[in-house]
Amino acid sequence: MCSPGRKVGIMGGTFDPVHLGHLILAETALDAEGLDEVRFIPSGHSYFKDSRQDKVSSGEDRLAMTRLAVADNPAFTVSDIEIERSGNTYTFETLEALRMLEPDTEFYFIAGADSILAMRTWKDPARIFSACTVLAAVRETADSAALQEEIRALERDFDARIRLLPMKNIQISSTDIRESIRNGHSVKYQLPDAVIAYIEKRGLYRG
Ligand code: ATP
Ligand code: MG
Repeated sequence: MCSPGRKVGIMGGTFDPVHLGHLILAETALDAEGLDEVRFIPSGHSYFKDSRQDKVSSGEDRLAMTRLAVADNPAFTVSDIEIERSGNTYTFETLEALRMLEPDTEFYFIAGADSILAMRTWKDPARIFSACTVLAAVRETADSAALQEEIRALERDFDARIRLLPMKNIQISSTDIRESIRNGHSVKYQLPDAVIAYIEKRGLYRG
């Protein structure tokens, strides 16, 4: 399990709900960087998303949906390390905890453009960047010069190791999915069928 030099990608997110954009991002990272595993870590309590109008679904539901979404891929795993922690959870703490538990593993934090642009506002960015290499998904067609500039600034300001991950632009977001469900529209093909079935069974996002 802990063979030396294992390369593990970390996909952090709210995953409310998890969708094909997340899965394609994870697969792109696995393929491009030759990762041994991508670990999905649904966020715990998020002070960022406290202001969201519709409340964030329970950790239990987000964990269950994420597990269903990755069940058919042996390289994808799910960790409850953040959901199980009480209080605010911070990315730097998660990464440092993982490094303590698995000292021989190299961790790669996988981040979409919106995450990259926000990272310097997260708690203790210097500790995040010293605990992992960041894989930054850039969409050649859609992403601006501002993103490239922020990547260079993070490298300069925090000694960040950031590798670009060229990715197709997949126009799917959890926000859109929640809104479609609230309005009674189909979300089929935007997320795995098993996750849609779970959402229906639990009556999530109906508003
Ligand atoms: P919300 O709309 O609630 O913010 P989201 O769809 O952005 O949800 P998150 O859980 O916030 O999903 O995202 C987790 C990670 O996945 C982030 O790093 C984010 O940048 C990335 N991500 C989300 N959607 C996509 C997508 N369609 N393509 C590439 N990366 C994505
Ligand atoms: Mg988001």
